[in-house]
Amino acid sequence: MIHHEPDNTHCPCGCALKRIGEDVSEKLDYTPGVFTVERHVRGKWVCDDCETLIQAPVPQPLVDALRDVVLGHQVIHADETPVQMLAPGSKKTHRSYVWA
Ligand SMILES: [Zn+2]
Repeated sequence: MIHHEPDNTHCPCGCALKRIGEDVSEKLDYTPGVFTVERHVRGKWVCDDCETLIQAPVPQPLVDALRDVVLGHQVIHADETPVQMLAPGSKKTHRSYVWA
């Protein structure tokens, strides 16, 4: 279990922050032959006087990391592939696209 708590539990207004709860997320990890779950606990800390809430940020979504990698290059290659996709409940297909 990995805990993410603020370095400082004092509010900028001068009061002590109070821990009011936490958010827990899990990340599946794989090393050959073994799956493991990494549990992240992010405490929520609040100031009773000015109602400031402090919590460690959630790690970046994969889409942000992918965007940074793709847009970091001068040239981007793409492929558009048409595929037939089954429309839910209608037993018919329609043309869809996969972009890579
Ligand atoms: Zn405060």
